[in-house]
Amino acid sequence: MACLFCHIVEGSIPAKKVFEDDQMLAFEDIHPQAPMHVLIIPKTHVATVNDLTGDHDALVGTMLRRAAAIARERGYDAAGYRTVINTNAQAGQTVFHLHMHVLGGRPLAWPPG
Ligand code: AMP
Ligand code: ZN
Repeated sequence: MACLFCHIVEGSIPAKKVFEDDQMLAFEDIHPQAPMHVLIIPKTHVATVNDLTGDHDALVGTMLRRAAAIARERGYDAAGYRTVINTNAQAGQTVFHLHMHVLGGRPLAWPPG
């Protein structure tokens, strides 16, 4: 049984896609926490940051640059935005398929709760 985000990659669960190529998918978060709240995921299943290997180095770099491209497209690059990857329980990870949150369009408090 594939995980929720693997189902989104396969297309068996719908998502509002923002960007897609052969290695990653970006889509709107279903419960947006800011005017821009996009999730960027690898198409291959990686559960957490703890599970990354050297083979993923280029992929993670490309995901981060895609976050910048999406923020730029939406006009949030100069004002500022946040990229977040939650890992495991204490950080609040609820979906165990690696995903980068891209949040922007309002002031974002620091430190996070
Ligand atoms: P995290 O707490 O870091 O694991 O984030 C999981 C994120 O996935 C949350 O922001 C959820 O709102 C989002 N989410 C859960 N299910 C879906 C879905 N079907 N489509 C889009 N986003 C989702
Ligand atoms: Zn998955």
